[in-house]
Amino acid sequence: MEDKRCALVTGGNRGIGLEICRQLALNGVDVILTSRNESRGVEATDKLSISGLHNVVFHQLDINDPLSIAPLVKFIETHFGKLDILINNAAELGIIFINDKEFKAGGGFVQLVDEKAHLLTNIVKEPYELGEKCLQTNYYATKTITEALIPLLQLSKSPRIVNVTSVYGDLYWFHNEKLKHELQDIENLTEGRIDEIIRMFLMDFKTANLEKNGWPLTTSAYKVSKAVLNAYTRLMARKYENIMINCVHPGYVMTEMTSQTGFITEEEGAKGPVMVALLPDNGPSGAYFNRTQVAPF
Ligand code: NDP
Repeated sequence: MEDKRCALVTGGNRGIGLEICRQLALNGVDVILTSRNESRGVEATDKLSISGLHNVVFHQLDINDPLSIAPLVKFIETHFGKLDILINNAAELGIIFINDKEFKAGGGFVQLVDEKAHLLTNIVKEPYELGEKCLQTNYYATKTITEALIPLLQLSKSPRIVNVTSVYGDLYWFHNEKLKHELQDIENLTEGRIDEIIRMFLMDFKTANLEKNGWPLTTSAYKVSKAVLNAYTRLMARKYENIMINCVHPGYVMTEMTSQTGFITEEEGAKGPVMVALLPDNGPSGAYFNRTQVAPF
């Protein structure tokens, strides 16, 4: 009997995640579309089914809610008996966009001048609480769901994990050479040290010491969250030699996250993560892809 592959996508109800589900299903992969909100997830799954894709099933998953993980694991065990592909797509930006007209100069507001992603004109607010939540979702919750699913991935003949990252996670945004070196030095970096680095960042965020200590200055928590996700991807690839684990920047995509200001469609944005998920067995592990091309961290 043909061994059909099964993939799980986090944050699959909209944006790039939904499109990843669609493209994987079109490639004949059985897809578990997960969403933290049941009705949004069911609606997205129904949309795919109406378009003729009947190999997508819904299961609730809030990656920040440990109680939602056990029922999901049970569901995969019962219905698929293993997991072949995990796509960690769910994330949050940790900032609030402020309409230019409503903007009043004052503490706590930042004008973005990120030439690399061309978010040139948005005014944003970065409250500490959102920054902390951003690290929690994009890094810690992604780690938790990954670790919970490793045993099921280990039952696959050809397991893969794709972490959807961002060029905002490039070390280019860090101005502290020691930190940059530490996050690059995969031989000596540990998950414990990543936790310490996050604690240092949050303390500097809270006490307005980001500039002094060389952290990214705008969209700071998001950039740090993706930089540590990249480092974690490399640590995991070393730890689990039989699992192909990579991270992918999807491009600057028109989604809710970018307030539809992206340059490419969701369909184009999903191509990189899907290509990496379906790489042949001799593909790289612990690598960073900018859309469909391998690039330096
Ligand atoms: P969206 O904001 O459009 O979608 C984010 C998805 O994540 C939603 O489905 C959201 O669910 C879900 N989500 C957020 N928090 C949780 C949670 N705790 N548990 C489960 N799901 C959650 O973002 P994009 O589609 O644009 O982004 C997808 C990925 O691509 C992210 O990792 C992002 O960082 C990355 N990325 C995007 C870029 C872009 O240009 N758009 C550029 C670079 C990277 P809900 O609908 O319930 O809010």
